[in-house]
Amino acid sequence: MSADFLIYNAQLITPTGRLPHGWLLTRDARIAALGAGELPDFEMVEMLDADGQTLLPGFIDVHVHGAVGADTMDATPEALQQMAAFYAQHGVTGFLATTWTDSRERITAALMNIAAAQRHSPNGAAILGAHLEGPYLNPAKGGAQNTEHLRRADREEALAFLDIGVIRLLALAPEYDENHWLIRECVRRGITVSAAHTAATYTEMRHAVDLGLTQTTHTFNAMTGLHHREPGTVGAALTSPEICCEVIADNIHVHPAVMQVLYAAKGIDGVILISDAVRGAGMPDGDYHLDARTVTVRDGAVRLPDGTLAGSTLTLDRAVANFIAATGAPLTEIWRAASLNPARALGLAAQTGSIEIGKAADLILVDDNINVHLTMVGGQIAFRRNMA
Ligand SMILES: [Zn+2]
Repeated sequence: MSADFLIYNAQLITPTGRLPHGWLLTRDARIAALGAGELPDFEMVEMLDADGQTLLPGFIDVHVHGAVGADTMDATPEALQQMAAFYAQHGVTGFLATTWTDSRERITAALMNIAAAQRHSPNGAAILGAHLEGPYLNPAKGGAQNTEHLRRADREEALAFLDIGVIRLLALAPEYDENHWLIRECVRRGITVSAAHTAATYTEMRHAVDLGLTQTTHTFNAMTGLHHREPGTVGAALTSPEICCEVIADNIHVHPAVMQVLYAAKGIDGVILISDAVRGAGMPDGDYHLDARTVTVRDGAVRLPDGTLAGSTLTLDRAVANFIAATGAPLTEIWRAASLNPARALGLAAQTGSIEIGKAADLILVDDNINVHLTMVGGQIAFRRNMA
């Protein structure tokens, strides 16, 4: 049984705006009550002084591979535990452990490990499931995905992956006819499908949307760009209301001006901030391994020897700050791209993703620079800065 908390002296960010001098009560891992001004007299609660900081719903990272020397593809409980603890320090209360393109055996091992870890719920951010990025991608837009293992969606293999029951998001290249059945199958199972590492034309993307595709993976990166006579994958992403666009807001993968374009085209409800962080996140500059290959981390960028970007060292607290700086939009709006929209994309918005009575007590306290001071996952403190 977790303790119940009364967080007070906070600025609450709710779907209807900012509540200064706010307070919030957690009970049995949920948000039980909230308000502003004078504190009601609650019995048997632990008082938590927010010191005037801002209380947000926890961030949800739907696309993250690793951190602090660990990677989803390590397929060990320790790797996921290290990742969960690190993400919680940066305001993440839930994430999808994301696989890389690899052999059937290695992807299966990673998925089985995620399924087991989900049952044991490690300390830190909650593991909400798996994101299968590849292997059904286009080698022409492979990026750092291991092209040796890229393939079309074989029915027997893909169904075996899905039957493990842990995949909530599946990223594929929608321009291949052989991948179309998988879009329909995912929709049937309630799994979100995203266009990734793709050379899809505008028309091919619109067809995929008709089949049920609703997301684009690290939008602008590893996809057909916008041309005024061939709008490409990006053109379809920006103009299709059905599509929610992931973006890596690290100022390396995407220029701040392009974040402004994205925001202008989609509005905040069409954007999902992701980290796409890899093993080198939270680590000093140096060389790290990515499957059998080596990547170099320098000045926050992760690159293969040929210069190709290979994921990021971004954390979602920085992504929120960068997106605010790029768009000039206020935190009272931008939080949606890091909390509510990813919750929606996973079909979890009834349970989490915003500060509303009845939802899970997945909460964070941040200062004016979006530095995280406290992270609460399901009503339990998962991280506290300068914890005595
Ligand atoms: Zn990718």
